[in-house]
Amino acid sequence: MQPAESLFTRQYATDRFREQTDPVLALENINVNFDGFQALTNLSLNIGVGELRCVIGPNGAGKTTLMDVITGKTKPQSGKAFYDQSIDLMRLEPIEIARRGIGRKFQKPTVFEALTVFENLEIAQKNEKSVWASLRAKLSGEQRDRIDDMLVTLRLTGERHRRAGLLSHGQKQFLEIGMLLVQDPHLLLLDEPAAGMTDAETEYTAELFRSLAGKHSLMVVEHDMGFVETIADHVTVLHQGQVLAEGSLREVQANEQVIEVYLGR
Ligand code: ADP
Ligand code: MG
Repeated sequence: MQPAESLFTRQYATDRFREQTDPVLALENINVNFDGFQALTNLSLNIGVGELRCVIGPNGAGKTTLMDVITGKTKPQSGKAFYDQSIDLMRLEPIEIARRGIGRKFQKPTVFEALTVFENLEIAQKNEKSVWASLRAKLSGEQRDRIDDMLVTLRLTGERHRRAGLLSHGQKQFLEIGMLLVQDPHLLLLDEPAAGMTDAETEYTAELFRSLAGKHSLMVVEHDMGFVETIADHVTVLHQGQVLAEGSLREVQANEQVIEVYLGR
């Protein structure tokens, strides 16, 4: 692998995506108010097809709320949210949004601890059925192969028959990312995916996400600046529910307002 070269190619590719294609996600003037508390204010944000976007910002900035809006968990008081040009997210229930290809990973891993790693991926792949019906239904050879490939990608091949509850925190994070990927989502939303990971796991997560960009569009919320630096094409800085700055990491880090609020100067 040649990281420098692949990084360049990817940057070039995503710049082209941005120029040539319509956004996979277009948010316009989103306002979310929780009983008088304004969590998001006139938030507008576009994500290009195949782009890997990082969203950063201090605690309470509204990052998780933003994901709640995209996935239909929170309905804004006003604004527009379109996915794939024509799909109006404001009109859809969370389950319909997920079915249309928006996958989400929450901050804390939520795997089925009593089931094996393989079974967790199996259930995720056949997500339309109940857990037990899903485990009874026989896997096709093709489905089995896909899970095997995913285990390799996740570096969990040796753990396939282990109960998920016995995995390390980082391995659980990987398993949950895999549970998303076997559903082949179009747009992935990942809320602090590297939280609690070791340095080596964080590094591998960055590598994995880079390999996903292009095929998928990704929005990643992350605090680890080293991680953001390795993966991001484009960074959006949120502060008090508003977009404070947008651009390359270098650009936003040089932004006076960002320095003031983010670095607390
Ligand atoms: P972040 O993920 O950037 O840390 P959040 O989106 O979780 O921030 O929260 C943004 C703000 O909105 C916080 O001040 C939080 O307390 C508030 N908030 C989030 N969800 C709710 C809710 N359901 N009810 C009331 N306030 C909320
Ligand atoms: Mg959050």
